[in-house]
Amino acid sequence: MKVLARLKKLNISMSPHNFELWYVYYARQNDDVVSAIDSSLKEGADITYDLCVDLHEKYLSDVKNNDLVRQAGDKISDKLSLVSGMVKDAKESTQQYGESLSGANSSIADTNDVNELKKILSEVTRDTQRMIEQNKLLENELDESSSEMEILQRDLESIRKEAMTDGLTAISNRKAFDDKIDYIRRRSEEEGQIFTLLMIDIDHFKSFNDTYGHQVGDQVLRLVAKTLTDGIKGKDFAARYGGEEFAIILPESNSVAGEIVGNALREAVAKKEVINRNSGDKLGRITMSVGVAQYEAAESVESIIGRADKALYKAKETGRNKVVIAE
Ligand code: GH3
Ligand code: MG
Ligand code: MG
Repeated sequence: MKVLARLKKLNISMSPHNFELWYVYYARQNDDVVSAIDSSLKEGADITYDLCVDLHEKYLSDVKNNDLVRQAGDKISDKLSLVSGMVKDAKESTQQYGESLSGANSSIADTNDVNELKKILSEVTRDTQRMIEQNKLLENELDESSSEMEILQRDLESIRKEAMTDGLTAISNRKAFDDKIDYIRRRSEEEGQIFTLLMIDIDHFKSFNDTYGHQVGDQVLRLVAKTLTDGIKGKDFAARYGGEEFAIILPESNSVAGEIVGNALREAVAKKEVINRNSGDKLGRITMSVGVAQYEAAESVESIIGRADKALYKAKETGRNKVVIAE
């Protein structure tokens, strides 16, 4: 239970938010949280309760309102106070037991009477029995708590994952994209690196939808999403940006690489024939247009997205089913 140990060591009081923050940190679930905490630790800054509250507010507050997260946090808190109460009780009885043993020890030294000795021995036996029982109770409670905690951790993990995943296509959603591009931009600045952004929009999707219906449209979105995620590798990141638009981030890559990847993905999508799942009818092929922008030093996230969007618009304007690189 790394999280609890850490909170204890830092002397930070246990709250659902703190637990969530540190859990997210150790599970490496949120790049922002990881880099914020790592840099505070590196600077030797005091990790205070207030700092944790700030970090939680800044990076996790959108999920904060999620009832399930709060419930999980509350359950963890309840469990912890129960266990710490039991540990405290056990400590007290251990102390009492110690006292009773040393009391018995000196009484034994002072007596020659067999009956007196028998009495002392039976008291020691009784206290020992009590001690064993109490330890067993505590042990059971700890076992039970730790498996409950594991379940709660898994719950929290899946809630966080869900918050970052697009329900229709099962790839990363807009929220995940926003987090990712912020992080990549910051890291690129720190390391003097570049990255490239691809904005992708399906061509004439509206008429596809209008002709074959929304469900087939949804099927196309899933097909495109899968083709995109299958077509990228390593650190590359794909997300559904919204509607029938997708975004891809290529870390440490320039616009030439972006153009190559964009064309490969464009061709991969164009090659696939859409088949109506229900009727088996062939519904033809879909194409997509791509705008590519390479990150320029000190540029904002809005700026690079704006430039990639503009390039995408140009691809649409000049015939669709193509890749255009931003100026
Ligand atoms: P263009 O080539 O210029 O991009 O034309 P387009 O028809 O693709 O562009 P437009 O933005 O006009 O149409 C996008 C359409 O995408 C509108 C909407 O009906 C459809 N759409 C957006 N989100 C969804 C979705 O979740 N499911 C389905 N089936 N359709 C969606
Ligand atoms: Mg569109
Ligand atoms: Mg479109």
